[in-house]
Amino acid sequence: MRKIVIIGGGIAGLAAAYRLQEEIGNGASLQCVVLEAMDQFGGKIATERFDGFIVERGPDSFISQKPAAIELCKKLGLGDRLVGTNREQTKTYVYTGKKLVTMPDGLSLMIPTKFLPFAFSPLFSWPGKARMALDLIIPKKRGNGDESLASFIRRRMGEEALRKMAEPMLAGIYASDPETMSINSTFPMFVQTEKKYRSLILGMLARKRQMLTQKPDKNHQPFSLFMTLKNGLGEMVDAVIEKSPDVCFRANTKVREVTKHESAWRVVLEDGETIDADAVIFATPAKLSADFLQPFAPKVAELLSQIKYVSTATATLAYRKEGFAHPLNGFGFVVPRTEGRKILACTWTSSKFPHRTPEGYVMLRCFVGGALNEDLAEQDEEAIATMVKKELADLMGIHQEPEICKVFHNKKANVQYRVGHAGLIDSVQKELNAFPGLFLTGSAYTGIGIPDCIQNGTRTAESAIKLFAEESQIED
Ligand SMILES: Cc1cc2nc3c(=O)[nH]c(=O)nc-3n(C[C@H](O)[C@H](O)[C@H](O)COP(=O)(O)OP(=O)(O)OC[C@H]3O[C@@H](n4cnc5c(N)ncnc54)[C@H](O)[C@@H]3O)c2cc1C
Repeated sequence: MRKIVIIGGGIAGLAAAYRLQEEIGNGASLQCVVLEAMDQFGGKIATERFDGFIVERGPDSFISQKPAAIELCKKLGLGDRLVGTNREQTKTYVYTGKKLVTMPDGLSLMIPTKFLPFAFSPLFSWPGKARMALDLIIPKKRGNGDESLASFIRRRMGEEALRKMAEPMLAGIYASDPETMSINSTFPMFVQTEKKYRSLILGMLARKRQMLTQKPDKNHQPFSLFMTLKNGLGEMVDAVIEKSPDVCFRANTKVREVTKHESAWRVVLEDGETIDADAVIFATPAKLSADFLQPFAPKVAELLSQIKYVSTATATLAYRKEGFAHPLNGFGFVVPRTEGRKILACTWTSSKFPHRTPEGYVMLRCFVGGALNEDLAEQDEEAIATMVKKELADLMGIHQEPEICKVFHNKKANVQYRVGHAGLIDSVQKELNAFPGLFLTGSAYTGIGIPDCIQNGTRTAESAIKLFAEESQIED
């Protein structure tokens, strides 16, 4: 029987474990153990539930256009637990010129696809609009070389589109600096659109037309770009564990080192216990995987340590609805860096996902820190809470004291995909091929979102299954 150890019980490690469970369920002679340092599984995914509130410490939803998360939820029997965003309140705002200004209707991933709302939007100046419209005639870039998000947007749509939309909305998802983040690894659909249609506007219009002509399937649900689970994303974590009865999940089990042992691998725990395995999947952040690999694969470790992480923090505040100073008519707002404020964005959680708040309350979540303001996220909880409340007073006119204010630190938790990231990952994989039985998975490689991590974890498990099958053929 082959034994596989997964180090790290975040969503990537759990997705790998579930794929191995499927294989065991189909009769494969496999043993799988997941080792998690913390007392809970899920890694960045952590849901707190109390007094009718559902508070997410990390991610709060996932994108529905990448199918891996929805597919996993369905396999886990959570299909009917999936919920989309509120369809009544879909506006998003940008804080600019000391007020919240609505994003014009018809933006598709920040690219205008409706002429009138865009033309009359007060969000952009006339020269800014004219520059964005030049996208219709600017020739496409030659070659496949990577470039930064800032360089890509500046080239196609100009500086104002970069500052008011791409930086707060797109770089904001990655808590990154748009001047250094890779367009190829973060928004490849823009690169593909430019290649195929030359113009981003023409490409988005073509995509919209395509979607309109597609026939809905018989299980068609109303489209929501973001999906979550009724009782929070922690439901997915619990379900993987519940539906993987043949996998051994060990929490509070921190791995100290991994060594080569005879023809296999030896995993050494903090308390000195050892576990021998035919294969090891490192589902830990890249910097920790680098530490494990350093003694016997220094080149892989050196490459992995080039992948950087930055700190962010979130503050979730719940207020009594009665007398609350703002209508919360939308999903929330983003704040361009040029405004010089201390929060990056604020989600109006009780409007976006109304089921997360009990009757009579509203809930907001503010984001702090990231590549350009890490210091702010590394302050203590009280300082962050005070800062966020002051920002909400200035930006939204909220002077009411919240009933609940929860600050969560995500210290060096947000991975940064810098220009050349895909090439770096190729080099890591080439070097790792010299160590059969060792695999890497997680947000550091081919996508940071939950669906990306699930897909990467699943594929990594499949690579291990394939390796075992090849080894068995040789032995026969
Ligand atoms: C604040 C925040 C908000 C986000 N929002 C969204 C969102 O809304 N939608 C979305 O799709 N994505 C979002 N993301 C991104 C997404 O949540 C992450 O990329 C993803 O959850 C990472 O999963 P992972 O399995 O790669 O890593 P992790 O979740 O980091 O899991 C790694 C695990 O390894 C464990 N570990 C570490 N060292 C050891 C050791 N020595 N021994 C054993 N175990 C160890 C850790 O405890 C951890 O559980 C967000 C991320 C953050 C930080």
